[in-house]
Parts: sequence; C-alpha cells; structure tokens
Amino acid sequence: VQPPPSTLHAFRAAVGSVPDRTALAYFDGRLSYAETDALSDGIAAHLAERGFRRGDRAAVMLQNTPHFVLALLGVWKAGGVVVPVNPMYKSAEMRHILDDAEVTAVICADRTWDGFLRVTAAGAPSVRIVLTAHERDLQTRDDQRVLHGERLGPQQDADDLLTVARTTGRIRVAPDDPELTVGDLALISYTSGTSGTPKGATNTHGNITYNAERQRTGLGLPAGATYFALAPLFHITGMVCELAACIANQGTLVLAYRFEAGVVLDAFLEHRPAYTVGPSTAYMALMAHPEVTRDHFASFRTMSSGGAPLPPALVEKFRTGFGPYVHNGYGLTECTAPCASVPPGREAPVDKVSGTLAVGVPGPDTVVRIIGEDGRDLPFGEPGEIAVRGPQVVPGYWRRPDATAEALPDGELRTGDIGFMDRDGWLYVVDRKKDMINASGFKVWPREVEDVLYSHPAVREAAVVGVPDAYRGESVKAYVSLRPGTATEPAELTAYCKERLAAYKYPRAVEILAELPKTTSGKILRRELRHRA
Ligand code: ATP
Repeated sequence: VQPPPSTLHAFRAAVGSVPDRTALAYFDGRLSYAETDALSDGIAAHLAERGFRRGDRAAVMLQNTPHFVLALLGVWKAGGVVVPVNPMYKSAEMRHILDDAEVTAVICADRTWDGFLRVTAAGAPSVRIVLTAHERDLQTRDDQRVLHGERLGPQQDADDLLTVARTTGRIRVAPDDPELTVGDLALISYTSGTSGTPKGATNTHGNITYNAERQRTGLGLPAGATYFALAPLFHITGMVCELAACIANQGTLVLAYRFEAGVVLDAFLEHRPAYTVGPSTAYMALMAHPEVTRDHFASFRTMSSGGAPLPPALVEKFRTGFGPYVHNGYGLTECTAPCASVPPGREAPVDKVSGTLAVGVPGPDTVVRIIGEDGRDLPFGEPGEIAVRGPQVVPGYWRRPDATAEALPDGELRTGDIGFMDRDGWLYVVDRKKDMINASGFKVWPREVEDVLYSHPAVREAAVVGVPDAYRGESVKAYVSLRPGTATEPAELTAYCKERLAAYKYPRAVEILAELPKTTSGKILRRELRHRA
C-alpha cells in the first residue's frame, strides 16, 4: 500500500470518512475529527494572517494535550515545519533550538511562558507570533493529580490558542491548501545532545507517513482502534507510532498530559485502548504501582516498547503478572522512530551468549547492515555499527552539512549503536558505541550487565556505567532502584552478578538509589550517573 504524501492527507481522509469519530480524548474531554479539523483551521488561518509562510518554522512546546495536535495540524495546514520542543527544557536549551531553527512562531503552554520570556529577552529575534495554550481548557474534569499549575493570567503580546482557533474558525478564513509532498519537511527534531550541540534531524512528511503506514498495516489493529499516548508527542516515538499511526488508522488517540503511572492506569480502564508504545521504564513504573492489576491491560491487543533497551526479564515479568507480550522495536530520531520491530504474533529470540533480546527484524524496504570501522559488512553474529537505509531515514540535519556528511554518507545512517544480526535476520542492539566501558582493555557493554541485574527479583531499574579506576583504567559500577516492598544489599547484587558474568564484567560497586535519573521521554540517563560517580 502506498502511504499518502503527508499526515495531513491522512487526517483529511479521516475527516471525510469518520467526521464524528473521537479523534482526541483527554480525561473526559473529547474532540471529534470534524472539530479537530475546524480548530486547527483556525490556527492555520491565524498564522497565515500574520505572515507565516510555507517552509516557516513553528516551535511547539507542549505536553500530551489536544492543543499539541491542534498546533501541529495548524502549522502543517499553513505549510510550515513543526519544531517539537520538550516543554521541560530550560531557557538555554530552548534558545539554542529557537535560534538554530530560526523559528518565527512559538506555541507553548502558559506555564512555559516565564522560560520563554527569558529566552526572548536574550535572543530569539526571529519569533514574531506567540500562542499560549492553557492545557486544562479541553479537560472537563478537574484532576489535580495531573495538572499542578494554575492559569498564569493573560499574557502580554500572546494570543490564547483556543480563542484563536475558535474565533478564526467562526469567521471562516480558510487556509490555503499547502499541497504538501513527501519531500517537504514536516519536523525538525532536535537530538538530546548527549554527543555535542543538539542537531536538528529533518523528518520529511514521507518519512513519517511511511512509518505510520507500516504501523497501521503491521500491527494487526482494527480500523478506528483506540491508541494510548504513553510516549510524549514531542518525542519521535510518540509523534509517529502514536499520533501519525492513529490518524493513518482513523483511530482515537487518548492523551493524559504526561506520564504518571496512576493516571495512566485509570485512563486504561476508562478508555480501554487497544495499543500503546512506551519506553521500558514506563512498563517498570506501571508494574511497580501499588494498585496495578491484570484488568488494567485487558483491552490491549498488542503493546510495544521502543526507544530504549528492553530487558528480557521485564518482558517475562510483564507477561506472567500483568498483560500481553511486549513487542520490542528499535529506532532513532534520524529514522523517524522504528526501523526494526518484532512482528505481531512473533516473539523476539534471546541471544544465547549475551542474553540480549532481539529488537526485531528490519522493515520491508529497509536495509540494515552491520559494519566494521572500514564500512564493510561484518559476518553474522559479529558486533559492529548498525547502519540503516530506508524510506524512514532523514535526508540530513538542519543546516549542518558537516554532521550530515558524517552521519549519513550516501544517505545511509550510521546510528552510533553497536549491534549484530543473526542468520534468521533478527537484529540485536548491544549498546551505544560511546557507552562501552574499557576495563583493563576488556570491552564491557553496560546492557549485558543491566540485563542480569534486571533478572534479580528486587531490582526495579538498573544502569551501569564506567568509572575511572587507577588500576583498570575504568571499572564497572551499577546503580539500581528497588521494587517496592523488597530489600537487598549492594554486596548481594555484586555476588549475584559475579555468579552470572565473566570476572571483568561484574560491577565492582553497586549503589542503590530511590530513583534513577531519566529523560522526559523516560530513558535512563547514564551520562548523569557517570558524572555522579
Ligand atoms: P541523542 O541521540 O542526542 O543521544 P536520544 O538518545 O534521545 O538522544 P533517540 O533518537 O531518541 O536519541 O534514541 C535513539 C537511541 O535509543 C538509539 O540510538 C539506541 O541507542 C536506543 N534504542 C532505541 N530503541 C532501542 C531498543 N529497542 N533497544 C536498545 N536500544 C534502543
């Protein structure tokens, strides 16, 4: 099946065929496809009236709220490019992105306003249009557990998103149809910057619709299914596997502001979703919740984990005690979310030597190679850098020909991940190239040690880093958090790993923390732990 040129085409098809179906559910507020269409028309008209043109960039800094989707569709309808920005970013991180992308419009929550003012005071001269969103407006139930902030009052020089959407919608200033094509930029997605200054990956509309269509046809979900947005929409996994895939399937997207285990479990019971995808840490948090039961997951046809390592012990714990088999998926911002996944009805094998769970098989038009330092293919089973070529791979980084040439020689993406492929075509991710620990010249991959820690009944989260060691150069240190109601000692965990791993691999030190540091998309931050050590 040929995917449509853009997600806007898919959205318009849904408005045409199921106008009254709920497109967005947010607590007990709902917007149909027709309402979502009218409101986003209003935003597009407002932008166009203020001189926003085709190819212009608009930053969207919002949590998982209907406003996010209205803003996204509004910018696309005006022919623009969306720059998703994590609303938790501090001013300096925000400023770099706004300046680098030369953003002319900003759409943010009113609570982000203070940070934004500091940004504009110190730069971001290109910003001319500001819309603020009060994230409670489309939520009819007053749920203090979710939205802690109060409305900040009218903002100077900023228009209220919903007022604009409704007013302009009423006076029927229809935006011109931008006639988006597969090659037009849809997003500039900034990397989190673990490897230098954040770079903007340029995801085209074609990149997104290819992966959304793969999700629509590949998951075996009925048309119109209910999707739950567990991953944040400002992250590529949420944007593509939840939002774009749901639109492609003419389904209902359930939003719940940001991840909070209790709120998510309540929403599962209320909306009975058929599908969700989130990082493995979200599954850990759900399983650790005191009120969790099997019934919370009873409506799911299938569930996926993506964007972070999935320990095999977690898949087993989840299946035995809670819900369905969790399908692994591997991807990066630069390949617009997944490039390999575990097909429905199949189970990922576990590598006998390393104990690693396969991440999946590459999609049909996707070529994954495992390459050595010289760029040549390595034999089956031998670890090397994962390189990806396919319709979901971005053409490059925004205004960074140097970085583009380095990461995408001839359009093939060098992922910076080390992995291997088995004879049956299953791909395994060993770890990130830069996270390798060098202990007395021996390579230790943190993932392998973490997988062992996760198989211990008391361990909830685990992260392994290299710490400076006068004798070995680097030595292995583990940080863990514990499951509620369990107890263990660092010495017991060290002994547990020593029994199961080669002598140079087991952690010489284990520290127990209440919680491990994570990115807002839920990934454990090894780099922060490395600094702590
Ligand atoms: P940065 O690239 O700036 O460090 P980031 O880690 O947030 O930021 P993403 O594009 O969000 O970048 O994440 C992609 C990375 O996540 C991959 O390169 C890989 O290391 C890891 N990853 C994704 N899926 C899996 C998986 N199924 N198993 C193991 N690792 C995974």
